[in-house]
Amino acid sequence: MEPKPTVFNSLTREKEQITLSSDRSFLSWYICGPTVYDAAHVGHARNYVSFDIVRRLLVDYFGIPVLYQMNITDVDDKIIQKSFDSGESFTNIARRFEADFFDDLEALHCLPPDVVTRVTEYIPEITAYVRKLMERGYAYEAASGSVYFDVEAFERSGRHRFGKLRPAAAAAATSVETRPHAGANGVDPPSLEQLSVQEEKRNPRDAALWKASKSAMEPGWESNGLARGRPGWHIECAVMASLVSCAGTTHLDIHTGGIDLEFPHHDNEIAEAEAYFETDLWSRYFLHSGHLNIEGLKMSKSLKNFITIREVLRRWNWRQLRVLFLMHHYQTTMNYSEESMTHAAAVERTIQEFMRSTEAELRAHLPEERHRKPTKVDLELLYQVLPATEATVRAHLSDNFNTQDALQDLLTLIRTVNLHRHETPGGVGYATLHHIRSSVGRILSCFGLDYDVKDDVASQGGAALASVEPWIQGAVRLRDQIREVVLSADANTDANALKESILVVCDEFRDAVLPPLGVRLEDRTYPKPAIWKYDDPAAIQADIEQRRQAEAARAAEKEARRREAEQRLLKELEQGRTHPSQMFLDPSLYSQWREDGIPTHDAEGRELEKSRVKRLLKEQQRQERLHRKFLEAQASGLLSKLGMEP
Ligand SMILES: [Zn+2]
Repeated sequence: MEPKPTVFNSLTREKEQITLSSDRSFLSWYICGPTVYDAAHVGHARNYVSFDIVRRLLVDYFGIPVLYQMNITDVDDKIIQKSFDSGESFTNIARRFEADFFDDLEALHCLPPDVVTRVTEYIPEITAYVRKLMERGYAYEAASGSVYFDVEAFERSGRHRFGKLRPAAAAAATSVETRPHAGANGVDPPSLEQLSVQEEKRNPRDAALWKASKSAMEPGWESNGLARGRPGWHIECAVMASLVSCAGTTHLDIHTGGIDLEFPHHDNEIAEAEAYFETDLWSRYFLHSGHLNIEGLKMSKSLKNFITIREVLRRWNWRQLRVLFLMHHYQTTMNYSEESMTHAAAVERTIQEFMRSTEAELRAHLPEERHRKPTKVDLELLYQVLPATEATVRAHLSDNFNTQDALQDLLTLIRTVNLHRHETPGGVGYATLHHIRSSVGRILSCFGLDYDVKDDVASQGGAALASVEPWIQGAVRLRDQIREVVLSADANTDANALKESILVVCDEFRDAVLPPLGVRLEDRTYPKPAIWKYDDPAAIQADIEQRRQAEAARAAEKEARRREAEQRLLKELEQGRTHPSQMFLDPSLYSQWREDGIPTHDAEGRELEKSRVKRLLKEQQRQERLHRKFLEAQASGLLSKLGMEP
């Protein structure tokens, strides 16, 4: 029997096997999300990347489906303070930092949550929950209108115990409101507001469920008969987890957060939810990620040693950071330093080098090498070393997601294989290398470290992604062509001609480079971006051919129209060749003329009628226009261009 995953459960302080509960086919998981008022730091990165790894291991390695819910605290003292200080609305601030936070998660290659719940979108549900706690006698409203959880009533009930995660801290607590903003010792001294809150509580251990607004300036809601106000911190998570992750039951499966959240946050969440459901087991497993120190010191405001995720990713890449976290058990306190990152980067280099060089080596193998007789080394690697490594990796990962020892096993395997590749005559056979590389790649991918281009889509698009080389060549050629067009232009280049040339290059990429790769690119009306999809290269080619024919037909039609216009012009110009004064000189028609060439008498010597002269004058005027046009065409060289006599 293969080992099943066990996890250290903060609730029981023991390692337990992770099982599905009988009423659902997946693990419902709630992770406490950020309060969005500032840039996320490397401590956040540790928490979210570590649980991203645990999540991937559960789903991809152990095959247990997970539904991952994260909350966003988008109304809170810090956000409100920032809004007062800056004049920016609290909603704007929250949405801005929420977007930054998810950008950071993406940059860290964390899978996005399946469900994201924002506090401000759950106000009616939160107040209804608070109401129910009041009705049950687990909460009371103070004179200010604020509502507090009644720890004594909770304990008096006989069914419940307060402080399941941190009993000693819970018993001695003097404040249950402060939230850790900066790691463990980043707790601020109580403010005047907090002191006045302490006075109206029956017991210092009672946490605020609902905070009545002190002024109309504060964001507040009137809901379910409670005074205008906003939710307390712990109740937000209790309600949103109860609504989504519990969904119809009284329990969720996994609840996680940083170790700082154990008390007061998680202990209060547990008490509030257990009181609401009248249950004694709300979340089956509680998992906490350990502290992250910076250069050996706790992160804190006074030490000014905050490092944002963005700063980290300017210095190191996401893979190096992920390897650093993999090298430490997710529960332990760990150190982020130049030294620890340099070490992690070296480890990542070894892994990457193995994955890339084996890929190249396998690609270069000749087909007949598959028929190579396996050597002693091949058989030993395949039938002893690899299975032994896979077994120890599985044992480590099953043991509370011990990634650091599993990673060491992989590194040992990589070193052994590399030694044989480089030192043993004949190296390592194709089948052996291929098999080991796949196994290592699969485990790495369960860590969130992918080194392979996804080639499963290749089947849909023919040769689309069989190799990246044609893509690189196509992209480089495209770039060269654009540079050629742009750099060969000078002050005399017509902007439209330049535009046209660049568009020709773009069309060539669409019609000549992409189709053989099985990619169909379809332009849409500017400024909409083009869309692309995988398709049969022959089908794309056929469509391009059809489009070319239609274009050719349109061009032929245009050319015919142009010729027609040219013929008309030729005729007109030929007509205009005669000088207006010369047009009526025919002696068979006329016998006397004026100076301007207009006849006055016909051939028989009779004077012409006035109306006739008028008509001829008109005709002459028309000829004047035609002749002017002719002279212009003569001067501009148009005549010779059209093949006419000058
Ligand atoms: Zn929470």
